[in-house]
Amino acid sequence: MILLGSTGSIGVNALNIAKQFQLSVDTLVAGRNIALLNEQIKEHHPKRVVVMREEDCSSVSHPDVRFGETAILEAIEESSSNHVINALVGFVGFRPTLKALECGKRVALANKESLVVGGSFVDTSSIVPIDSEHFGLWYLQHGARRIERMIVTASGGAFRDWPLDKLADATLEDALKHPNWSMGRKITIDSASMVNKLFELLEARWLFGEGEYDALIETKSLIHAMIDYSDGSTTAHFAHADMRLPIAYALMGSVDTPIVDRIDLTRIGSLEFRSIDPQRYPIWQVKNELLRNPSRGVIVNAANEAAIERFMAGDIRFIDISTLILDAYEAFSASPRSVEEIFAMDAEVRHFVRNRKC
Ligand code: NDP
Repeated sequence: MILLGSTGSIGVNALNIAKQFQLSVDTLVAGRNIALLNEQIKEHHPKRVVVMREEDCSSVSHPDVRFGETAILEAIEESSSNHVINALVGFVGFRPTLKALECGKRVALANKESLVVGGSFVDTSSIVPIDSEHFGLWYLQHGARRIERMIVTASGGAFRDWPLDKLADATLEDALKHPNWSMGRKITIDSASMVNKLFELLEARWLFGEGEYDALIETKSLIHAMIDYSDGSTTAHFAHADMRLPIAYALMGSVDTPIVDRIDLTRIGSLEFRSIDPQRYPIWQVKNELLRNPSRGVIVNAANEAAIERFMAGDIRFIDISTLILDAYEAFSASPRSVEEIFAMDAEVRHFVRNRKC
């Protein structure tokens, strides 16, 4: 496999699965965590390695090390492997997804931003999503029953139980305290703002086609997806939250070995569901409009990435992230008609958000 983002939360889990099932690793792509990358090279013996910055190349213990975004695209093209796992974070993952598909490779896609910004230009028939919620929806879809609505669940993120009037004081450290598990920093902030769930609904829309999609909070994160059928019944996918499960399916198609421990419902006792309140999660206001016009995902993604940069730099408050996204959503109304327009719009929206007063 070609693994993009090997040193991240998903990348590390993907290499665990590779080790457990003896899958060979052809190419590793990482950012700045060279110490971890060197350990991965020692264990998995890739043919080539790509890092983000030129100055890190000399610290990488491998004879074939390249750097930068173009090198990622070249590595995908050169590799004889037909399997790409895209676990990069953010817009930087979009071009590699397009390149992998252009080369006729199968993409196990964790980089949800690829579908959020350019779902209409991505051939989803060659994509398997690496996300518990989409895995759950896929898992539940077997059968001849007519689907009425697909629902994904949310943990509610770091501020789920905070008093609303305290949100204005939330710090970066607070935003990074996910209630149920540990992930990369950006997706953890996206969980706190509910942007992550908005992105998952868009992803679901591109993966499973037009239809009714919604989300709700399930506080223990044991149910990942539910399907309402037209006969009035609902099915739910239960599993302990562990990314190795969707990763194993994405890499191998089917799995007979236990990947996670089965949930003992008697020990769980009870579950709690909540609706997503736009007062706590203002971004939820655009959910229905965005699902009607999913190509506008590029606006939300660019605004979100630029606002998170500002939040991480201490320039804006947590609550300003949603305000900036909503401002950008209002200011930019068009939908991109080509991949080039996606890149142009991404740059324009970032410029708008970087220069906007809060
Ligand atoms: P992380 O931040 O943990 O990992 C991101 C990876 O991308 C790291 O290996 C990082 O390198 C690498 N990277 C970042 N920028 C570059 C670049 N310019 N060039 C090369 N490598 C780069 O993120 P996650 O693993 O949490 O998330 C990855 C994707 O998967 C995101 O799109 C996220 O939304 C999605 N996802 C994540 C889930 C999770 O449980 N974590 C669940 C479902 C989806 P380094 O660390 O070395 O700098």
